[in-house]
Amino acid sequence: MSESATLAVGAKVAAARAKGHDVVAFAMGEPDFDTPANIKQAAITALESGMTKYAPTAGEKSAREVIAQKLTRENGVATTFDQVTITAGAKHAIYMALQAIIEPGRGDEVLLPTPAWVSYKPLIELAGAKCVEIAGAVENGFRITRAQLAKSINAKTVGIVWNSPSNPCGVAYPADEVRALCDELALHERIAVISDEIYEKLIFPEIAPGLTHLSPGSLASLASRTITVNGLSKSYAMTGWRVGYLAAPLGMAKEIIKLQGQMTNSIPSFFYPAIVEALTNSAAGVETMRARFAVRAKLMHDELSSVPAFRNVAPNAAFYAFPDVSAYFQKVSPNGAQITNAQSFADALLAEAHVAVVPGEDFGECARGNIRLSFACSEANITKGVARIRDWVAQLR
Ligand code: PLP
Repeated sequence: MSESATLAVGAKVAAARAKGHDVVAFAMGEPDFDTPANIKQAAITALESGMTKYAPTAGEKSAREVIAQKLTRENGVATTFDQVTITAGAKHAIYMALQAIIEPGRGDEVLLPTPAWVSYKPLIELAGAKCVEIAGAVENGFRITRAQLAKSINAKTVGIVWNSPSNPCGVAYPADEVRALCDELALHERIAVISDEIYEKLIFPEIAPGLTHLSPGSLASLASRTITVNGLSKSYAMTGWRVGYLAAPLGMAKEIIKLQGQMTNSIPSFFYPAIVEALTNSAAGVETMRARFAVRAKLMHDELSSVPAFRNVAPNAAFYAFPDVSAYFQKVSPNGAQITNAQSFADALLAEAHVAVVPGEDFGECARGNIRLSFACSEANITKGVARIRDWVAQLR
């Protein structure tokens, strides 16, 4: 299987910095903020009070209860604690959800609206299914249509991986479009929905007035076959903690807990009080970070719009911009590098202008002309990094 493209760029940034280069990194999908102090303190207190032993595989009941209440109250996904499994990041939740719905050797197909996060396709294939990409056009803000979805479904389709707001697109689907796509899925009883809602709290109505999040699991037609995935990494600035979770229909949840019991067992036990603290007492901290990301989304879009020949979709959620830079393919860089695709564009940009971006290839077939820039960094970095890009592309011949 392929290496994670985003983690690979992270390693290149570290190598360039070790050589003394001043790199502006738009590569990593993680907030530059620190975890809010009250959440850290909850873990420290738990650790000091001796919460150092194995915990139940799916997690402490108190934390599972709080997650079930959050899903029920905020997302309309009616959930009880026994449907919840707390996982080592949302990544592991997605892995297990795919294992739960795919039967290897049966010819299963799983739908993936693209551009999509780099790990979905390898994880779908690892679980034994074919990944069927549905391309979201730049002209439609990277969003797929109901007609495209309907055309991609066949007798082998067992699931769809749904991700709104999206990494790498930086956009959320309007609720009415989610509903229309879900109406189509509802017609096909065999299809399970894995809904990755990790960027749910990072939506910018300041940019797209009226934009709201809609969880497929809140719709009666899909509730009994939707696995809702979420986690604390992005909204609570907790990437290094590795805390994710999923809520599944009860029968499926029991199987997933068996799988986790054989693979990793519970997450570190002293994190459970921190999860409760995050979900019950941190809304103000999340809102402060969200508002900052909204400012940066606008700044990043304004800056990228000033780069000639970039085709941009204005980000309205998460913390990514995903311009199409293919107008520069078949050109030669100042140092003589042939720019033939997004990978060579990104490599030469890092080597010559010291700006790190993630090339689009691994985000889907339709993303081969794009690069991803994370704006989970300071406003000064955004201005400085895009200025370097603007100067560098001006020298491509
Ligand atoms: N889902 C999406 C769409 C992501 O962008 C990421 C991280 O980049 C993850 C899941 C993984 O999150 P976690 O840190 O909880 O494993």
